[in-house]
Amino acid sequence: TRTPVNVTVTGAAGQIGYALLFRIASGHLLGPDVPVRLRLLEIPQAVKAAEGTAMELDDCAFPLLSGIDITDDAKTAFDGVNVALLVGARPRSKGMERGDLLEANGGIFKPQGEAINAGAADDVRVLVVGNPANTNALIAQRHAPDVPAERFTAMTRLDHNRALSQLAKKLGVSVTDIRKLTIWGNHSATQYPDLFHAEVNGRNAAQAVDDQAWLENDFIPTVAKRGAAIIEARGASSAASAANAAIDHVFTWVNGTAEGDWTSAAVVSDGSYGVPEGLISSFPVTAKDGRYEIVQGLEIDEFSRGRIDASVAELVEERDAVQGLGLI
Ligand code: NDP
Repeated sequence: TRTPVNVTVTGAAGQIGYALLFRIASGHLLGPDVPVRLRLLEIPQAVKAAEGTAMELDDCAFPLLSGIDITDDAKTAFDGVNVALLVGARPRSKGMERGDLLEANGGIFKPQGEAINAGAADDVRVLVVGNPANTNALIAQRHAPDVPAERFTAMTRLDHNRALSQLAKKLGVSVTDIRKLTIWGNHSATQYPDLFHAEVNGRNAAQAVDDQAWLENDFIPTVAKRGAAIIEARGASSAASAANAAIDHVFTWVNGTAEGDWTSAAVVSDGSYGVPEGLISSFPVTAKDGRYEIVQGLEIDEFSRGRIDASVAELVEERDAVQGLGLI
């Protein structure tokens, strides 16, 4: 039998955590033959709720689940971790300034980065879901100097999946007919879902749509503001779809992208496409041999250039703000 993979989930008692843990334990994160050991990190007030979730996990009798540890201590939670899903974050409350939000999250992601640096397994992979995800990932990464920077990523796969679904609907095709869609930039309202490199049954997607007004006034804002639309409709933020995207992100990272396709993930920039080196920004990425790599050499037209630059400018501002606060 294989040694279990240690999967740490922070904010385990939250909405996304609740949708995520059962799928990890049932084998969807890493595959149907990989046993997992769950480590749940929560703040002290939420440990009891996490224990309740753990009771339910027990009650599922998942064959692949070899154990569950619950803690409010980051060092304990990340000791020996192979896959870290950083979901818990400080949400923006009414009247909170951006600086306060970044500072509160710095207080979470700095010690978590340090704990990962101190105790993680050599093959650790980190996905940040908690918002502002890109900058939270940057903070954690900067406090884990002994971990290769490429192991820190932030989630734009939900945006990617949302874009796939919107495009499929528009063209009356299946999501499996679509390849090479890209989310660029920040996981925020400035993100840029790019159809110009995407293909639908081998044909260029932007040409297949042939409707620049739909693209600009419908598609892009619908994808970028989908989270708010779900809150409006459901009375609660998206949780199952976010958990699903987190599963997709890690599964693809470990198992690879299909030949002739790519996906979207926020990874550390190597300077490609004019994105300043070191920023954690969303790119078109392939996964092979357990590594995400930025797709190179795409031609970026003027429209896309403007959108990418605007989102990246926001990331630069966030980085400068956390730098100013002494968080990185
Ligand atoms: P959720 O589980 O709904 O969301 C968790 C985080 O995911 C939030 O930062 C949220 O951002 C973010 N997120 C990213 N993408 C999405 C998306 N598409 N849809 C919705 N959310 C998205 O939050 P809950 O409040 O239910 O739970 C958070 C839990 O985290 C609590 O149990 C809390 O105790 C815990 N926590 C744990 C910490 C720790 O372990 N050290 C630290 C801080 C909190 P947004 O707010 O912008 O929607």
